[in-house]
Amino acid sequence: MAGLPYIVGNWKMNGTRAMLAEARAIDRAASRFPGVQVALAPPFTLVNAMREAAADIGVGGQDCHVQASGAFTGDVSAALLADAGADFVIVGHSERRALHGESNELVRAKAEAAQAAGLGVILCVGETEAERDSGNAETVVTDQLAGSLPQGEEAAAKLSVAYEPVWAIGTGRVPSVADVGAMHRAIRAKLVATYGEAGAAVRILYGGSVNAGNASELLAADEVGGALVGGASLTAEAFTAIIGAAAALAEQA
Ligand code: PEP
Repeated sequence: MAGLPYIVGNWKMNGTRAMLAEARAIDRAASRFPGVQVALAPPFTLVNAMREAAADIGVGGQDCHVQASGAFTGDVSAALLADAGADFVIVGHSERRALHGESNELVRAKAEAAQAAGLGVILCVGETEAERDSGNAETVVTDQLAGSLPQGEEAAAKLSVAYEPVWAIGTGRVPSVADVGAMHRAIRAKLVATYGEAGAAVRILYGGSVNAGNASELLAADEVGGALVGGASLTAEAFTAIIGAAAALAEQA
């Protein structure tokens, strides 16, 4: 596995200031597991407050604009996220691709803008249920990667990829460990073909209904370097159990 296991919580459009107490508790828990890299992506409104409240975990945004500044009402740039204290940003989440019509080209431009602003990038890819059922999942995912992987000399160094089957997000359903391993191997091959040796060090996270009960087996699948977690990252109790599972596996390795 490339680097420390990376466990990232995506709070989506959840999180008032009252929830900073959960972030503080996650921060304290993370410091008990130094063998795991932990991060949270709260809504934009909490990025700065979370950065100040939780010193030992990564804090990131869930999206960014391709431009650094300008007349883009309602948008947030990577530079603004970095100024607010973010370390990374998620781009290409399936909810952005589906609900905001984001294309691979746009996702790539966002990833490149984020890296230019000094942020790490978590690039999401994943197939729909129909694409999985038709036997095209690997082609869909590797095509998404081909279209949205950032280019540039340092692109691989500040990159993680999250494989998130759309049908597994928020549904309680997960692929088999064998299917996760097969997809992660296909992603690794694409990363190495794109970046050469640097592609071997890019962490590939699994995302989609990860919880305390299934984290150990999903994290043990081939080429899984961590998890992107939605619902189960909203409370310290649930998220800490996943961090603990990652720590236990890392110790065995
Ligand atoms: C996500 O949206 O990135 C996600 C993985 O959500 P959940 O864990 O709730 O399926």
